Amino acid sequence: MSECLFCKIIAGEIPSDKVYEDADVLAFNDIHPKTPVHVLVIPKTHIPTLADVESPALLGSLMTKVNHIANDVLKLETGYRIVINVREGGGQEVFHLHVHILGGKKLPF
Ligand code: AMP
Ligand code: ZN
Repeated sequence: MSECLFCKIIAGEIPSDKVYEDADVLAFNDIHPKTPVHVLVIPKTHIPTLADVESPALLGSLMTKVNHIANDVLKLETGYRIVINVREGGGQEVFHLHVHILGGKKLPF
């Protein structure tokens, strides 16, 4: 069994507040939201960090789905921010690639 928290969420071993799922990605509400809308989008394959991505196609598909989820599922019409923390220095705490979607208010930089 994987020790990865997000792999356990994908497997249903740990519950999540799911907002979208398809064959390739899962999106769920962050347990400690930093903004009114704070969703994490993760690929279903275990990739530790952005630096470990080998497939441009996977990255392109992931980002296309992030855009679809933000616009069509979360309805963030006025806009949103995406964040990918990379390794400890970038603030990454869970080592399974994930894209934060932040929105629901005007975000200062
Ligand atoms: P990062 O710092 O980029 O690795 O982000 C990890 C995110 O995962 C943080 O924003 C946490 O609040 C979030 N998180 C940790 N555990 C869970 C969980 N069980 N369900 C949902 N989000 C979680
Ligand atoms: Zn994983």
